[in-house]
Amino acid sequence: MYKYNNFYKKNFIFKIIENDIRNKKYNIICTRFPPEPNGYLHIGHIKSICLNFSIAKFYKGIFFLRIDDTNPSTENIKYIKSIKKDLIWLGFKWDKNIKYSSNYFDLIYKYAIELIKKNLAYVDELNIKDIKNYRGTLLIPGKNSPYRNRSIEENLELFKKMRLGRFPEGKVSLRAKIDMQSKVIVMRDPVLYRIKFQEHHQTGKKWCIYPTYDFSHCIADAIEGITHSLCTLEFQDNRILYDWILNNISIKHHPKQYEFSKLKIEYGITSKRNINILIKNKIVSGWDDPRLLTISGLRRKGYTASSLKDFCYRIGITKQNNIIEISSLESCIRLELNKIAPRAMAVLRPLKIIIDNFPSNKKIKLLIPNHPNNKNMGYKNIYFTKEIYIDILDFSEIEKKNYKRLILGGKVRLRYSFIIKAKKIIKNKNGNITCIHCIYYKDTLGIKIDKKKRIIKGIIHWISCSYSKPALFYLYNNLFIKKNINNIDNILSFLNKKSLLIYNGFIEKNLLQLNNNNQHFQFEREGYFFFDKKYSNKNKIIFNRIISLKKKNN
Ligand code: ATP
Ligand code: MG
Repeated sequence: MYKYNNFYKKNFIFKIIENDIRNKKYNIICTRFPPEPNGYLHIGHIKSICLNFSIAKFYKGIFFLRIDDTNPSTENIKYIKSIKKDLIWLGFKWDKNIKYSSNYFDLIYKYAIELIKKNLAYVDELNIKDIKNYRGTLLIPGKNSPYRNRSIEENLELFKKMRLGRFPEGKVSLRAKIDMQSKVIVMRDPVLYRIKFQEHHQTGKKWCIYPTYDFSHCIADAIEGITHSLCTLEFQDNRILYDWILNNISIKHHPKQYEFSKLKIEYGITSKRNINILIKNKIVSGWDDPRLLTISGLRRKGYTASSLKDFCYRIGITKQNNIIEISSLESCIRLELNKIAPRAMAVLRPLKIIIDNFPSNKKIKLLIPNHPNNKNMGYKNIYFTKEIYIDILDFSEIEKKNYKRLILGGKVRLRYSFIIKAKKIIKNKNGNITCIHCIYYKDTLGIKIDKKKRIIKGIIHWISCSYSKPALFYLYNNLFIKKNINNIDNILSFLNKKSLLIYNGFIEKNLLQLNNNNQHFQFEREGYFFFDKKYSNKNKIIFNRIISLKKKNN
């Protein structure tokens, strides 16, 4: 369903590959998606997977999933599980086994020794703070470390000691010997290895030194035979280092790095670090909170895999750093759900209506379609009874301008049912309305044009009290009040206090039984909802609102 072809035609990376193929540069195209297992995946990652996966698929190449696990202090096996789960759910199949950067620790260590032997790396005793100070800024050139000119033998000896755990953490590190005056800060003797006395989820206690991202990433790409190493724009400068490392070690294959812009969405965050801040501060309930743009959050909210992929293919790949409107994501799911979601009636803010001229022991069976434009989706029965619920917002005591709902003394049609007229309001001690007494017009069922010229204000949804079941409705709004929350330090100052509203209402009694395999519904006039299976139980039925309907009747 998604715009695969357009994506292919417009995308600048595809053009590069097309050219490489024409020039017979590669026999087989190989891409990878390399997440760091330090959090759950988010929608930005889908953009990256769509790109890498579709390239491999298009050119009948290879697509790897590589867990980029070089920093055991922030990593966790539960994140690896969630990454796998998300990819499978999205329908992206990786080739062969899952790769891990840690698979290559032995080789990466060997290449570090090679650099030392070529006098291109040294063991530094500056601490992290001093390394930073010596590095300078864009305007101030860096300064050489006093340990930069050790002999190769001494460096080999010290690096071996690093590996054997003879130094405390932070005491020494291995750095590339490049150019402290380089215009590109990344090239000012970047750190290649640091000490971490941390057990690793894949390699256990084997290592107490771990390679940095810059050192391991290019080597992992080369070992796997990646042809096009695609990453986001913040790594543009690192490309020079990527090439420097591969040019200076004895590895045959040299992948090319290309950068594209990160996906950013209005009022939302696509950064694991920031999502973590929200979780730690209990602003959201966890990685799968439906207000987050994590894959697990979007899935729980009710987004389908196809709508998310559709969205990523539509926005395409560029080098422009722009921010995407949240409405373009929403329109993808709306488009899909409009076709597949059965319609139903649910009352979110119930107000009881008593039909005075309807007998209490009677019910009228009404046959209604599951989808107004798709008869193949079948029909179901609902019941009209003496007591029904309507939404509190659909009643007003007094006449209001442009108000098309029930008012005292006025008439409305109940969807798929009769016309009713409000006669009397009952209030409690506090002056709150507890119920409305109405009458119904017997001869108005199924008559579209009101022949007897009964003026109706509009059509409202309703539900029979006896054929309903309580449910909780979670309505989500933007998490932030600021459009662009990316690159902002104090994200907690821009929170939307009304990002979650919970309503205690009612659904049709047999709703979930009738649609056994379906969790998506359009509740008339309220929007598209998703049954939150995971967090519901026998006594608590939860529906998450995915999106409202396009504003028309409301
Ligand atoms: P985060 O800031 O969320 O931690 P990251 O880049 O550190 O993002 P990784 O797990 O290292 O996360 O990312 C795996 C891949 O996904 C990388 O190639 C990265 O460039 C890409 N990626 C991450 N965020 C986005 C995004 N917002 N849009 C597109 N691609 C992204
Ligand atoms: Mg990262």
